[in-house]
Amino acid sequence: MAIRSVAAPAVCELNPYVPGKPLDELEREYGISDAVKLASNENPLGPAPAVHAAVEAALSELHRYPDGSGFYLKQKLAQKLGVQSQQLTLGNGSNDVLVLLAEAMLTAETSAVFSEYAFLVYPLAVQATGAEALVVSANPAGHEQPLGHDLEAMLAAIRPDTRLVFVANPNNPTGTWVEQEALYAFLQHVPENVVVVLDEAYCEYTDGGEYASVPWLAEFPNLVITRTFSKIHALAGLRVGYAVSSAALAELLNRIRQPFNVNSLALVAADAALASEGHVAESRKLNDDGKLQLAEGLAGLPVTVIPSRGNFVLLDIGKDAAPVNERLMRAGVIVRPVANYGLPNHLRVSIGTQEENEVFLKAFPECFFS
Ligand code: PMP
Repeated sequence: MAIRSVAAPAVCELNPYVPGKPLDELEREYGISDAVKLASNENPLGPAPAVHAAVEAALSELHRYPDGSGFYLKQKLAQKLGVQSQQLTLGNGSNDVLVLLAEAMLTAETSAVFSEYAFLVYPLAVQATGAEALVVSANPAGHEQPLGHDLEAMLAAIRPDTRLVFVANPNNPTGTWVEQEALYAFLQHVPENVVVVLDEAYCEYTDGGEYASVPWLAEFPNLVITRTFSKIHALAGLRVGYAVSSAALAELLNRIRQPFNVNSLALVAADAALASEGHVAESRKLNDDGKLQLAEGLAGLPVTVIPSRGNFVLLDIGKDAAPVNERLMRAGVIVRPVANYGLPNHLRVSIGTQEENEVFLKAFPECFFS
């Protein structure tokens, strides 16, 4: 018997998420060393020193289960965000929370709205529930946010059976964003029985680093904001993120999450990272400088750098990106091809250290023209 014939049909049809290649895998495959990885939107500085100390101190308790409620981390987050602890749901990365939201809200009789080129986890999470995905065309070329979310069209796509709308601000892999005023107007028009998931994985990279969205929770009980410690806080390897929402929605999400979905090292690391504001500011500056460095370094080439509010930029290289990507890998530079997003002429490049960016800028023209 073929196991697929008896498995859930929605699962059989899934195209699994393809993560960025790990460094050692590429080095093994290509027989190279000292490769540079600019493929997974990680913080090249690594975590704050206080995180190392907190993790080391927690090692002696590894035989204990973690605090399943994440009491201390939620308390710190609540204080920082100006919300109640009961409004928080912790996740094994924000990916976990996105999946919990789909599980909590969607059934095969419902639908969810998201934009073309939106973060791939949305279609995956929706599809696994059997709900219908309503994919809205992105902004066209020539728009000031090409490939970005068209909020008006997303609003128009909402049907009576729609239960979730995903908005990534900024979006990955495009780096595009929606302005706060437009988002606020959008929220005013979304029916109250539709949950809006505002994915702010990269919000700390924007300007002052804080978005206006959290206070909106008081006005919109159907709003949920997801954030992560994987990006500016540099804890991608530990897996911790969270959702902030109404207490009623958080109560639902907390019902279905695994009892110990955030491990003990991640809990203490996130706590220490939250307190390391200097490190966050330094990371933001490195990212801003790196984006300028890439824009300037690519200026003479026939590629378009799409404006980004994340820790990455999407390049439209105007031709099939696969061979260029292959040559970059041979040159020891890992970036992210995004053909699986329907963008075969694009490459997503994460911002690295100044030195890593230089390696990319040196290799790119050779790989582009050869
Ligand atoms: N949202 C967006 C837009 C992302 O790009 C990512 C990571 N690539 C995530 C959520 C999930 O990140 P994590 O699970 O590490 O928090």
